[in-house]
Amino acid sequence: MSRRALLVIDMLNDFIQEGAVLDCGPSARQIIPFVQEKIEEFHEARDLVVFVCDNHQPSDPEFDLFPPHCVSGTPGAQIIPQLEVKDTDIILPKKKYSAFFGTNLEEILQERQIGEVHVVGVCTSICVMDTVGDLRNRDYQVIVYRQGVADFDAAAHTFALQRMETIYGAKII
Ligand SMILES: [Zn+2]
Repeated sequence: MSRRALLVIDMLNDFIQEGAVLDCGPSARQIIPFVQEKIEEFHEARDLVVFVCDNHQPSDPEFDLFPPHCVSGTPGAQIIPQLEVKDTDIILPKKKYSAFFGTNLEEILQERQIGEVHVVGVCTSICVMDTVGDLRNRDYQVIVYRQGVADFDAAAHTFALQRMETIYGAKII
């Protein structure tokens, strides 16, 4: 029987805290209680929780596009303190938008016979959408929580939800 996992994407200080270098805005802070609820639900069910965490070296080429953020070893790269992280959770650092690029996420999901992946976090139109696309390319069932994702760009958020549903075939609930 296949199992489920929760991916918590980029709920990190540099994206979520007010005034942070890439502060995603009030909508990103509004999802915190819902994200924490989902984490608790998965912890109680003993289902896998993976914290996917942007993590860059100071010379990362991504800093040509965005100001330096989530630099390895800095407080900005840490998971926001409002979320509960357990020893049994997996912390998965990533350098690019998709949680699969340059990581062992595929092995993690295969080893645990995960068939259904639930997704929360930021930003809907960037790391969430690219990760959901890569999950669907691998034929995982994907559930994205409308109340659990956010973006600094409201129009991009709406477009991304629609695209993930109609083009990727993710369930948006
Ligand atoms: Zn980044």
